[in-house]
Amino acid sequence: MTIHQNLIAGEWVGTTGSENVNPSDTNDIVGVYAQATADEVKQAIAAAKAAFPGWSRSGILERHAILKKTADEILARKQELGTLLSREEGKTLAEGIGEVTRAAQIFDFFAGETLRLAGEVLPSARPGIGVEITREPLGVIGIITPWNFPIAIPAWKIAPALCYGNTVVFKPAELVPGCSWAIVDILHRAGLPKGVLNLVMGPGSVVGQTMLDSPDIAGITFTGSTGTGKRVAAASIEHNRKFQLEMGGKNPMIVLDDADLGVAVEAAANSGFFSTGQRCTASSRLIVTEGIHDKFVNALTERMKNIQVGHALKPETHVGPVVDVRQLKQDTDYIEIGVKEGAKLAFGGERLERDTPGFYLQPALFTEATNQMRISREEIFGPVVSVIRVKDYDEALAMANDTPFGLSAGIATTSLKYATHFKRNSEAGMVMVNLPTAGVDFHVPFGGRKASSFGPREQGKYAAEFFTVVKTAYTLA
Ligand code: ADP
Repeated sequence: MTIHQNLIAGEWVGTTGSENVNPSDTNDIVGVYAQATADEVKQAIAAAKAAFPGWSRSGILERHAILKKTADEILARKQELGTLLSREEGKTLAEGIGEVTRAAQIFDFFAGETLRLAGEVLPSARPGIGVEITREPLGVIGIITPWNFPIAIPAWKIAPALCYGNTVVFKPAELVPGCSWAIVDILHRAGLPKGVLNLVMGPGSVVGQTMLDSPDIAGITFTGSTGTGKRVAAASIEHNRKFQLEMGGKNPMIVLDDADLGVAVEAAANSGFFSTGQRCTASSRLIVTEGIHDKFVNALTERMKNIQVGHALKPETHVGPVVDVRQLKQDTDYIEIGVKEGAKLAFGGERLERDTPGFYLQPALFTEATNQMRISREEIFGPVVSVIRVKDYDEALAMANDTPFGLSAGIATTSLKYATHFKRNSEAGMVMVNLPTAGVDFHVPFGGRKASSFGPREQGKYAAEFFTVVKTAYTLA
């Protein structure tokens, strides 16, 4: 098999690689991807540093053209790239194509943003002096991404980094290098000058850690686990470096007695189980008031019986496999923990056999859970959802906010009063009314509070807050 190489200083390099395995069929090797050494990572950082002065002063039309061309090629290849995504990550083909389309929209959005860069001009408090406020790029940005959105997360970090004039060292997750390699190849061919974007695939302990330890990286944008996020934070403080973290969630969805049952069930099934529950915005705590509790549990269980778990590329599949054996063990361990803690496993949770060897798991629903159980406090990152019964809205709101995390939160209700109150009083970064907690737009801010996130929001025009630094200039007229 040919090796998909790393891109360092405009050259494809690397002679040995690691296999990218399809979680729907472990006999299917998606490709072989080079593993960067610590020395190669240092070369990539040096190349990005050398390319920064030129790229930071490049014309906005040049940046626009490259980002637009990238968006167009990604969209034109959405079937092929969506198939690659589903093969390497295990989400269904429809989800894979949807995510690829999203990546194209993000590059298109930031192509547009290059043409809208602006500052402010205002009078000084002192007569005869003018003040200009401008945004400048930071320098070399380190991008570290997780496996659960193999193309969208790289896109929403790479596109704004380049749009605002930064250079990049990009380290994708070990499990899903394929889509990352593909977008770097597209950007490279679209005409990025050498060294502006460098790809360093390989393990976090080597590649990621070398990035964290480098004094030449001016900003790190990270999405992944809370544990690694804390390492990014500690290392960045050491180097006086800007950092942005997106980490876990334990997202609640409240279902009130007055909810439209069909809307509530669909939102819960979608955000709990689609994409195999492997979204940081997935709902894993369903907080349900007692008047609708039994009806809701019955309807959700019926809905779960219709969810087809299978090979990601089969058209009849609704939920693909778990991403790998390690994540599968985490999911099944938590299912055991839930049972031991006294929650009732109302549906699912068993390993499934399919035609091909893969990591198949029947989505699981716990009832009679409490908010203090580990299954309600810790992020599982799988298709495992708990129902917690409450008396009324006030108890539901308090419980929704009683969590270390604060990424997304939802409510299913037909009451304007409760919907409005929840939007104002939820301690999450994103609030959804009668919608799944997962599923966000690309042109508006994304991010959470508490242990879920740190630093400025991602996506939309708010991305400028992380990827630029503000300068205030005074001129005596
Ligand atoms: P998960 O594996 O659950 O996605 P991780 O936080 O382990 O969460 O992974 C997210 C990203 O962080 C991956 O690209 C991974 O390789 C990277 N990573 C892991 N350990 C480190 C580390 N010590 N330094 C930098 N990056 C790391």
